[in-house]
Amino acid sequence: MQVRNLIGGELCETAKTLPCIDPAVGQPFGSAPQSSESDIHRAVSSATDAFEEWSHLAPDERAACLFRLAQLVEDRTDSFAELESRDSGKPLKLARNLDIPRVVSNLRFFAAAATQFASEAHCAPGQSINYTLRQPVGPVACISPWNLPLYLFSWKIAPALAAGCTVVGKPSEVTPCTAGLLSELVSGAGFPPGVLNIVHGAGATAGAALVRHSGIKAVSFTGSTRAGQWIASELAPRFVKNSLEMGGKNPFIVFADADRELALETCLRAAFSNQGQICLCGSRILVESTIYREFRDELTERARALRVGDPMDANTDQGALVSREHQQKVLGCLDAAREEGATILCGGHPVRPEGRCSDGYFVAPTLLDGLGPDSQTNQEEIFGPVASLQPFDSEAHAVELANASEYGLAASILSRDVSRCHRVATRIQAGIVWINCWLVRDLRTPFGGVKQSGMGREGGTEAMRFFTEPKNICILP
Ligand code: NAD
Repeated sequence: MQVRNLIGGELCETAKTLPCIDPAVGQPFGSAPQSSESDIHRAVSSATDAFEEWSHLAPDERAACLFRLAQLVEDRTDSFAELESRDSGKPLKLARNLDIPRVVSNLRFFAAAATQFASEAHCAPGQSINYTLRQPVGPVACISPWNLPLYLFSWKIAPALAAGCTVVGKPSEVTPCTAGLLSELVSGAGFPPGVLNIVHGAGATAGAALVRHSGIKAVSFTGSTRAGQWIASELAPRFVKNSLEMGGKNPFIVFADADRELALETCLRAAFSNQGQICLCGSRILVESTIYREFRDELTERARALRVGDPMDANTDQGALVSREHQQKVLGCLDAAREEGATILCGGHPVRPEGRCSDGYFVAPTLLDGLGPDSQTNQEEIFGPVASLQPFDSEAHAVELANASEYGLAASILSRDVSRCHRVATRIQAGIVWINCWLVRDLRTPFGGVKQSGMGREGGTEAMRFFTEPKNICILP
């Protein structure tokens, strides 16, 4: 796989490249551009040149391009899924059944949104007539992480394009491949040259050059809180709009009256899906003390039974972590957990599968016990297959523990008591609360976090609003 930049409708090589590593085998299988400042400048110039025409195109014509792109991706679902799995280490079945279908949904959802997003009008008889246009902000940067590569990339570029913005997208340098494949389909979908540019490269160089570029009028970023802080501080003096979706340390709260099977099954998925590398994963499992031991032991047994290994194997539950560096980071967090007195209920070590994946970057599903809310393990985002259990004694205690975090992205509440679920949901500091479920998405709803997890919202109308500015026009009849 030779990933290239897409700039002004052309697929281009760069002077320097970065290797694409298959984390399940620890071997390179291709390369991607390491874009320089001048590559970024060319991409922003091409988005700037394309903006006038694209922003004045009828919404249904913009929608048609997005619908065609969705179809082209859907027709190649298997190729995209295989590449996503190979690039990121996630189980093929996850990419095939969740990630890539969600890419198609994102593109179709915002294609339809382009035609539905209306201006507002206000008038009082005999007085002024006001109408408020929502106009695209201009060329925008869409910067995405490695954990759900094409899914999160499409979640940003689709609303930007639907709103009439032109785009310079920068996928993660760790997982550039599926965005590289998407680049090959863009002109076939009918997008005029320069409307969607996709550049690759490291965050500190290519990403930073994009954020700093004066031609960029808004930045939509998903990634770590540290990079988000830098981006916010860089953009603040220029008052450039930004939306930041960042880390999480999400509570998963199980009350004694919860449907036990549902709670166990949902908890297992919330902790270990995609090797725990989803910002929404439940990494702090809070369980009512009356059922704590029983729940903990049953969950541990199920976590031990998860099959870790070759992502391409249909029987695999958990694939490889995205890189050696990330595997080392997660193992370092486990050492720190041991040092602060954690009991390792299961896992806690790397895994070396037999066969072709023996050099891959695997970590066993790990459950920890015995750590307080202020411990490093319960405070820092580990972003791997690691979750820590804590007991709680009352509803108020559950809320206190849930909120004892710098982060505020998502939470889950498992209980049969509907009133309690509503009560607890309103008191939890998070942008998203799931009741008796996890990771269920309706694309119309606002998505994002509070505290160190984010600023701004994505999804539905929120995304369309982010990529547009309101302009009020007042007429006196
Ligand atoms: P990261 O911050 O290292 O990188 C994310 C993207 O930003 C990459 O494309 C990277 O190249 C770019 N980048 C990094 N530094 C930059 C800079 N200074 N200027 C411009 N761009 C820069 O994050 P990651 O390791 O790729 O992803 C994991 C993180 O993402 C976790 O913290 C996870 O919680 C978070 N995440 C959040 C959400 C959400 O919706 N809140 C979703 C997925 C992942």
